[in-house]
Parts: sequence; structure tokens; C-alpha cells
Amino acid sequence: MPFFQPAQRLSLIPPYLFKAIDDKKEEVRARGVDIIDLGVGDPDLPTPGFIVARMQEAVADPATHRYPMYSGLSRFREAVARWYRRRYEVELDPETEVLTLIGCKEGLAHLPLAVNNPGDVNLVTTPAYPVYRMGTLFAGGNPYAVPLVPENRFLPDLRQIPPIEARDAKLFFFNYPNNPTAATADLDFFRQVVEFCREYRIVAVHDACYSELAFDGYRPPSFLEVPGAKEVGIEFHSLSKTYSMTGWRLGMAVGNREVLAALGKIKSNIDSGVFDAIQLAGIAALDSDQESVREYCRIYQERRDVVVGGLKKLGYQVEPPRATFYVWLATPPGVSSLEFATRLLEQAGVVVVPGVGFGPPGEGFVRLALTVPKERLEEAVHRLGKMG
Ligand SMILES: *Cc1c(COP(=O)(O)O)cnc(C)c1O
Repeated sequence: MPFFQPAQRLSLIPPYLFKAIDDKKEEVRARGVDIIDLGVGDPDLPTPGFIVARMQEAVADPATHRYPMYSGLSRFREAVARWYRRRYEVELDPETEVLTLIGCKEGLAHLPLAVNNPGDVNLVTTPAYPVYRMGTLFAGGNPYAVPLVPENRFLPDLRQIPPIEARDAKLFFFNYPNNPTAATADLDFFRQVVEFCREYRIVAVHDACYSELAFDGYRPPSFLEVPGAKEVGIEFHSLSKTYSMTGWRLGMAVGNREVLAALGKIKSNIDSGVFDAIQLAGIAALDSDQESVREYCRIYQERRDVVVGGLKKLGYQVEPPRATFYVWLATPPGVSSLEFATRLLEQAGVVVVPGVGFGPPGEGFVRLALTVPKERLEEAVHRLGKMG
């Protein structure tokens, strides 16, 4: 008997699919190839200077050095409510309808602990950010994958969800603008979700962390803009992608107060909230004129045009995404996502993520992240052209 056996719940974590790709990456690098990594969804652009400056000032103030309030600084929650009013004309009570998170991933992972009993079903649109599924499994729940397919523009067909699953479901995770497919949703879809969740008494959980990274003048809506949404659901947001603050760990959940109170109860027994200085810097970000966001969107849009334009010239069928910094590219007919990613790495030194890593319905696609400078993307497209 070995001395240590990890908990059985860790065996719920799916086998790591990309060992072969990681090994290949090392092999290609060792050959001296200059690898272009379009794998990671982490902005290369720095946090805007005014946010960093506010942090520097706040961190020097001893008043920020003590335990934060677990639900977040009132001032931060008020800034979130102001931002929601300005951006979406949605009214939130900062005391009961806003909860500060240590990044949105933290809140998403803890939510099932606050909602699910063992055996409960959670509906998860798939392909997806893996946390919805893993959070569900860690809480003893059963994820039910609702497939996102190109024929339906990567929106779930709610009528295809079997009533037997819907009746047992407690949470419905969905995410627009979407990672990994870059699909967007309009208010009409959100209205259908409100109706569906009301009928089956399911808590709607919208992950809106890419709502600000949009192009060509498009402004993604909030789920909470739909009348009645607050009665059935919550929305997650994050400063990570909007302000290039992934390392800072700051996000928020807003909406239904009963659900947020339950999540807050879990959190108050696990973490002690976000460092006050980080929240003060977050207020500066949310209250700013958002020029930094517009500037970064222009940069991502230019990169998108380089990649999509270049791929089209090479004969790939790909539509320019309206939001997110991802391009969801169909693999050539008969080539699996793992095979295609391996080929791109071997023959072009370009790293992409095989779609199957986001769940089985992601097969047939790879995800490219626009998180490297334009010149590198031009080089990546050039190398793809030479692959044949
Ligand atoms: C990046 C990402 C997150 C995590 O955001 P954090 O606030 O940094 O934890 C959540 N959901 C999706 C879909 C993401 O892509």
C-alpha cells in the first residue's frame, strides 16, 4: 500500500489529452524551431497603466493590508452596479445583487457546492471552458453536455434537451461571447433561456467574461437585460480579459440574490475575499472612460483580420468572429483535431488547441488565440501556406 492515496474525486478529472502535443512541442523546440504559441487564452497586452498606478497607490496604504470583507468592498460592488447601469441599463443592488470573486473561475467552480445535491444534473453547453463540468463533478453532480454545433451557430437548441434531464437539472451553464467557438448570442436567445429555466426551475448561469472584447461596433448584451432574468439567474464577469488583468484575480457574480447569498456562504467558509488594493484598482478600471478597452479591441480586431483574411486566402472556410480573441477553425475533412494540431506544430511550428479538449462536440475544430502580436500572426499564416 502506498503511503498516500488522493481522494477519489480526483479520479473524476479526465485524462490529459495533450501529452503527445506537449512532447511534440518540446521536440520541435529542441530542433531550434521558433514556435508561435496560439494555445493560451491569456492576453499578451499589459494591464493599462492607470490601473497599475492605482494599485501602487492602494498597496502603499496600510488600510488595505487587513483581511478584506468576504463579499467584497462595498465600494467595488457599487462600481460594478454603476458599470452595469452605464453599460447595459441594468439596475443592481450592490449589497445583495453583486458578489466579488477571486476571478470568475473561482466563483464558477464553487457555485455547484452552493446549489447541487449529490446526483443533481447541471446542463453545460459544450464545447466549453472546462470549469463548469469539473465544478459540477467535484460537487457530486452530473454534467449533461448540451452540444454547440455550427448548424445552429453554436447556440444550444433548448428543445433538444430531453425533459427528463431538464427536470433533474439545477444549473444551466452557458457563455456568450463564447470560448472556444467565438460565437455570440442575442437577446432573443437569452429570452428563450429565461423561459426554459423558469419552466424547469433551473438556475441560469451566464459566463459573460468576453462581453467587452467585441469588434466592428458590436456590443454583446447582458443576460440580465432580459426582463425576469434576475428571477432565474446570475451572470459572471471578470476584469481578466477586459482589462488584461488575468494575473490579478478579480471578477464578480451579479443577479439573483438568493443564489448569490448561497455562493457567498460557501465562499465565506473557504476564502477571505480579494485583496482590497486589487479591488480599488478594479474600481478605477470599471469607472474609467473605457478607452483602454476600445484600444485593445482595435488591436485584437486587426489581429483577427490578419488571421481570418490569411486563412481565407489559403482556402480555409472561416468567418470573422464578432467577439473574443479566438478563431474556431474547422479541420480539413477527415482530419481529427488532435491530428491537425499535431501537423500544425510539426510542419509550421504553430501551437493551437485541439477542439476535442473542450469536450467531444469540439471535435473537428481547433482554437487559435489572438494573443500574440500581428507580425507573429502574419508569420503563422505564412507558415501555414507553406504546409500544403
Ligand atoms: C478566461 C475565462 C474565465 C476565467 O476568468 P478569470 O476571471 O480569470 O477566472 C472564465 N470563463 C471563460 C469562458 C474564460 O475564457
